[in-house]
Amino acid sequence: MNPFEDGGVWLRCALHAHTTNSDGELPPDKLVRHYEWAGFDVLAITDHWVRTVEPSTERLLVIPSTELNATAGGPEHDAHVLALGLGVDPELPDVEVGFGTLGEVVAWVNEQGAVPYLAHTYWSGLRTDQFEGCDGLVGIEVWNAGCELEVGRGDSSLHWDEALERGRRFFAIAADDSHYPGYDSALAWTWVRAGEESAEAVLAALREGRFYSSTGPVVHELEISDETVEVRCSPVASATLVAGRRRGARANAGRLGYPHRSRILETNDDGLITSVRLERPPSTPYGRLELRDPEGRRAWTNPLW
Ligand SMILES: [Zn+2]
Ligand SMILES: [Zn+2]
Repeated sequence: MNPFEDGGVWLRCALHAHTTNSDGELPPDKLVRHYEWAGFDVLAITDHWVRTVEPSTERLLVIPSTELNATAGGPEHDAHVLALGLGVDPELPDVEVGFGTLGEVVAWVNEQGAVPYLAHTYWSGLRTDQFEGCDGLVGIEVWNAGCELEVGRGDSSLHWDEALERGRRFFAIAADDSHYPGYDSALAWTWVRAGEESAEAVLAALREGRFYSSTGPVVHELEISDETVEVRCSPVASATLVAGRRRGARANAGRLGYPHRSRILETNDDGLITSVRLERPPSTPYGRLELRDPEGRRAWTNPLW
């Protein structure tokens, strides 16, 4: 799966944000203007238990969505499920009676034609085994900016790797989960490779994993062969091929940069990596690329095999 080889357009998507229809600070029309001005192409409004409908603008495609609660392995384990792209009149379950298990909520989301992603699994205090077996769950949030800003639990990459290691092929988005735009917005996003700029095309790409996630770094080109992964990107301090237990490859920038199964092909004037070749370790269950710039901002591709 390599979205860099597909045709189509790259769309910068904000896939998790709240308005005054739930616990967000801005009314829907102001949130739309905010994300439009911040340079986004797509905004999924994900109010809790509400389908917020706000028209798209010339530059920003708005996709009605919601965020639902589910129990994961016990009533004390509250999981939040994003339902991205809810059709017209979906008869949202009542908050009081509709509080189902993760499996029930995910099945409901899929029945509506929406795309289910599990939000902020680290923030929620979930264990991987509480959700990795859930049929129909498309993926998780690898990064949630609001959860990082508030309690330092924005990074769910360990959950992602545990699931991938055991053969559960999840995709992973990065999102703001914005409640106070300006303070907690435009910090994390998902670059979707869509056939065209339409809600249907964006949702199809999210369902099929044709995207990568970022809090800063940009991937320009990505080539995968049987032996190597080669990437061209904005300047980064490290490029890592995460490929399962004990294995992987990494290039580190700098005078004492330590290359492990990698070769830096190009650097900028500051010695930061702009092109690198990483060796694929043989017979690993999966491999995903992760970039990190000198400010600690990261980008994550979906599993490449
Ligand atoms: Zn949530
Ligand atoms: Zn949220």
